[in-house]
Amino acid sequence: MHQCAPPVSFKMDPFEDTLRRLREAFSSGLTRPAEFRAAQLKALGCFLQDHRELLQQALAQDLHKSVAESEMSEISIAQGEIDWALRNLHSWMEDENVSKSLATQLDSAFIRKEPFGLVLIIAPWNYPLNLTLVPLVGALAAGNCVVLKPSEISQSTEKVLAEVLPRYLDQSCFAVVLGGPEETGRLLEHKFDYIFFTGSPRVGKIVMTAASKHLTPVTLELGGKNPCYVDDDCDPQTVANRVAFFRYFNAGQTCVAPDYVLCSPETQERLLPALQNAITRFYGEDPRSSPDLGRIINEKHFQRLRGLLGCGRVAIGGQSDESERYIAPTVLVDVQDAEPVMQEEIFGPILPIMNVRGLDEAIDVINRREKPLALYAFSNRSQVVEQVLARTSSGGFCGNDGFMHVTLNSLPFGGVGASGMGSYHGKFSFDTFSHRRACLLCPAGMEKIYSIRYPPYTPRSLRM
Ligand code: NAD
Repeated sequence: MHQCAPPVSFKMDPFEDTLRRLREAFSSGLTRPAEFRAAQLKALGCFLQDHRELLQQALAQDLHKSVAESEMSEISIAQGEIDWALRNLHSWMEDENVSKSLATQLDSAFIRKEPFGLVLIIAPWNYPLNLTLVPLVGALAAGNCVVLKPSEISQSTEKVLAEVLPRYLDQSCFAVVLGGPEETGRLLEHKFDYIFFTGSPRVGKIVMTAASKHLTPVTLELGGKNPCYVDDDCDPQTVANRVAFFRYFNAGQTCVAPDYVLCSPETQERLLPALQNAITRFYGEDPRSSPDLGRIINEKHFQRLRGLLGCGRVAIGGQSDESERYIAPTVLVDVQDAEPVMQEEIFGPILPIMNVRGLDEAIDVINRREKPLALYAFSNRSQVVEQVLARTSSGGFCGNDGFMHVTLNSLPFGGVGASGMGSYHGKFSFDTFSHRRACLLCPAGMEKIYSIRYPPYTPRSLRM
């Protein structure tokens, strides 16, 4: 039977051509030289500088992000990563010599950092620039070709990334792919050499399952509930300032935000007026009119959060306005462990306080749950902070502050257990996107010396 060829414009697979182009570029060796990598990183920096205002506007449209928060948590973080990578690229790329055994004394033994090849980066919507560009810096610095899949939910930022960013990077080895769950699912059917995913644990499992079909290694940067223990021995106003700042930053839509507070009923009574005081100072008497408070990303998340306001009892805030997806900075008290607000990641400007009878019970509550991405402990006593650190596990930890640990590119950023696997930032990004190739170079000659390895074995062979 005669089979018709499909019409030229009919594409069975929308990604095939793009992925082939990138694979060919990688095979040609184009991305390997340090000069090429540095040029891409500089171009990425130019993109940020040339379109600073456009990016700020896009972030404001998506999340009502203030210019200050856009600068602090998106643009300057990405720029800092670019600058750090440019400054250190050559030393990161250098072969690392390693120690040798008696049998390999005449050889040269070293680790070579080589790019994986074709890398897929999938990003979420809450820091839509930071969480696409910071992994991209690591992938480019390590010499990979990259497919970037921004979140379809932060539409304005997605548009800038899709329409403007590719003009700055070498098109033969970089592409932006658009789409939601369905398109990303189809994209994941393809073989990549590395997948870097940031998002929810639910989708993380989908990504890991798809990756396992090709034995593709993954980094999963996931979320969860980050506990915040507040000791009786503390200055309530200092704690309230810091907890409120980091909880309500980006309207609480931060993977490392303090998700819930554990403290005694007495400390709760001292914290509540201090939290009210901090919220009023930060956002005014009517937080809705504050230019510094973000909005909930979409209707679905707004309704989910409004549902959570019914847990426990509202002690501060609790107002909402659907027309602008506004939720007031809120504190809930009298919450129970089994309530949804204590079971699911909140990801919004709601802070539940759960009462515990001291440090041991707090540590029990924390350890009964999945390992969090971040964990916070506040106390005037350094032994208390040290005990929380020693008796729990989490991706990162910060004593007496919020998520400042993620701003240091000298620290690895990543989860553990259900909050993720792998890490990045600074050199950790370069290492994540590089294969550490074990290399041993043996002289072609000197066979007389090397021949002592061969049978027939003698007692001397055992000393090798
Ligand atoms: P998400 O998991 O819904 O989506 C993340 C990405 O996956 C998006 O690009 C989306 O298009 C894609 N996706 C969604 N459903 C998919 C599917 N079925 N198949 C394939 N791809 C799919 O996450 P989100 O709502 O964008 O972000 C919020 C979550 O991300 C929270 O859990 C938060 O804690 C987490 N997060 C983690 C970090 C971190 O660094 N660890 C940072 C930010 C956000």
